[in-house]
Amino acid sequence: MALAKLLEGKIVADRIKDKLKASVLSLKQAPVLASILVGDDPSAMAYVKSQAKIATSLGITYNLHQLAESISEDELIDFVLKLNADVSVNGIIVQIPLPQDINYMKVCEFILPNKDVEGMHPTNIGKVLFGRVRIVACTANAVMELLSFTGIDLYGKEVVVVGHSEIVGKPLALLLLEKFATVTVCHIGTSKAGKLEEHVRRAEILIVAVGKAGLIKGDWIKEGAIVIDVGINRVGDKIVGDVEFATAAKRASWITPVPGGVGPLTVAILMRNLIEAAQAQ
Ligand code: NAD
Repeated sequence: MALAKLLEGKIVADRIKDKLKASVLSLKQAPVLASILVGDDPSAMAYVKSQAKIATSLGITYNLHQLAESISEDELIDFVLKLNADVSVNGIIVQIPLPQDINYMKVCEFILPNKDVEGMHPTNIGKVLFGRVRIVACTANAVMELLSFTGIDLYGKEVVVVGHSEIVGKPLALLLLEKFATVTVCHIGTSKAGKLEEHVRRAEILIVAVGKAGLIKGDWIKEGAIVIDVGINRVGDKIVGDVEFATAAKRASWITPVPGGVGPLTVAILMRNLIEAAQAQ
C-alpha cells in the first residue's frame, strides 16, 4: 500500500490564522491574553515563546506573568482573581506543568468562564457535554479540525482514543460523540488488562494522547485508518509521538507527523478561543 498522506497542522493552522487576522481587525481594541507561567520549566517556556510569537503576528497582546516557583496555590488563585477583575484582560491561560502542590484543575475553576480560553472551567467542560461547543479544550479541538481537514464523515465510524486526560482524551470523546462516531476510550487500565492492541486494531480512526514513545506498534494500525498522534516525547535529541511512525505510515491513509501535527494547530485554536471570548465580552 502507498504511504499515508501527512496530516500537517501548519496547513490547517495557517487557514485559521488568516481568518483570525481579519477578526482581530474588526474588534475595537487588540484582544489581550494573560498567560501565567509558574517557575521556568523549559517545555512550558518554549510553549510560551511560540504562543507569544503567534499572538503578536495576529495583533493580539500577549502579557506573560512569570511567577515564582515558590508561589502557593492560594496566592496563584488570588492572582487569577485579579486578572478576572481586570476588564482589559480578555483571556487567561495557566501554563502547565505547575509545581506539585498546586492543583491545575482547581486553579482553572477560579478563571471566569468567559475568560477561560483553554476550556478548562467546569462550566465550559459541562457545555461540551451538552453539545454547546463554544470554548473547547484546544488540543481536543485541534484533533477535530485535523479530522475535518481529511474530509471524513465521522458518523458511525469506529474511533479509538488512547488516553483519557481532562485536557485531551475526555473532551475529545465528547466532541466525537457529538458527531455520532462510535467512540472507545482506552487508558492505562486497558493496557494493564492486555487489551490495548485489540482495540487499536479495530480503529478506523485512531487518536493517541499518552506520552509514551512507541506505545502503539505500527503493525497494529488497520489498513486505511486515520492516525492522529498527540503524544510528544523526547528520545535522545529527537521529538517523537506515541505511534511507531514509519510502520504505521505504511498502513494508514492519513497520519500526523510529530512534531508538526497537532502541536501547531493547538496554539491557533487557543487564539481563536481568545478572539471569540473577546467578541462575546
Ligand atoms: P496525561 O498524563 O494527563 O494522561 C495520559 C493518559 O495516558 C492517561 O489517560 C493514562 O491512563 C494513559 N496511559 C498512560 N500509560 C498508558 C499505557 N501504557 N497504555 C494506555 N494508556 C496509557 O497526559 P496528557 O496531558 O493528556 O498528554 C498526553 C500526551 O500528549 C503527552 O505526550 C503530552 O505532551 C501530549 N500533548 C500534546 C499537545 C499538543 O498540542 N500536541 C497538547 C497536550 C498534550
